[in-house]
Amino acid sequence: MEKVISLNHIAHSFGVETVIKGINIEIDKGVIFGLLGPSGSGKTTLVKIITGILYPTEGSSVVQETQMPSLKKMKNIGFMAQSDALYTELTAYENIDYFASIYGLSRSERKQRIKKVLEIVDLVKHMKKPVRTFSGGMKRRLSLAISIVHEPEILILDEPTVGIDPLLRQSIWQEFNKLKNEGTTIIVTTHVMDEAEKCDELALLHDGYVIAQGSPKDLKQSIHVDTMEQAFLHYGGGKS
Ligand code: ADP
Ligand code: MG
Repeated sequence: MEKVISLNHIAHSFGVETVIKGINIEIDKGVIFGLLGPSGSGKTTLVKIITGILYPTEGSSVVQETQMPSLKKMKNIGFMAQSDALYTELTAYENIDYFASIYGLSRSERKQRIKKVLEIVDLVKHMKKPVRTFSGGMKRRLSLAISIVHEPEILILDEPTVGIDPLLRQSIWQEFNKLKNEGTTIIVTTHVMDEAEKCDELALLHDGYVIAQGSPKDLKQSIHVDTMEQAFLHYGGGKS
């Protein structure tokens, strides 16, 4: 298996508060890797460290054998932040077009890719509307479209399906699986148990620690429980 991401002894503090504590994670190519944990457990901080947006207090994030942050590697990464960073006065189409040109896609590539990603997130009929008229779920979908427009080798998604209805959530997960089968490595954070079940590998985060790691099946079987929720509680993810 080709290793795509290595997190080595990562710790992070904001002032006196240490919110990420000695995390080691290795992620193979073509895997959907989930970071599961409740609000405040450190998911967003960790994905920002992986992408190189945030420099950790200790340890390092190595992506495709390059220590982050690396401008060159940023091009191979699609990142969907937890809060949407969109230009609200521009239309959906113009937003995607703007980011696609930053990634260096040619005019004809952009045209073709924008059409494709608008279809994936089901925003074709709204593509000419300014983003300020969009609902929260529509903005999430647009952010997702932007994160995949340049066909990145690594896709990092921070709570991508919050505010998205179940039907579209299902089709978005189908798309993740399709991308995965094409060799894309996907890291997705979630606090939703049923979404965690859809990942190949999981790290359960609690209070800045990884309390357990493995496939959803293994995590459940090794302690003889039926649901991810029971597993999470068993491994120490209850209220602290
Ligand atoms: P999650 O994404 O799992 O909800 P976060 O990574 O956002 O968790 O937050 C982890 C902890 O770090 C929380 O206690 C949060 O209050 C704290 N935190 C996050 N960002 C900052 C910041 N910029 N300054 C101070 N504390 C922060
Ligand atoms: Mg978060």
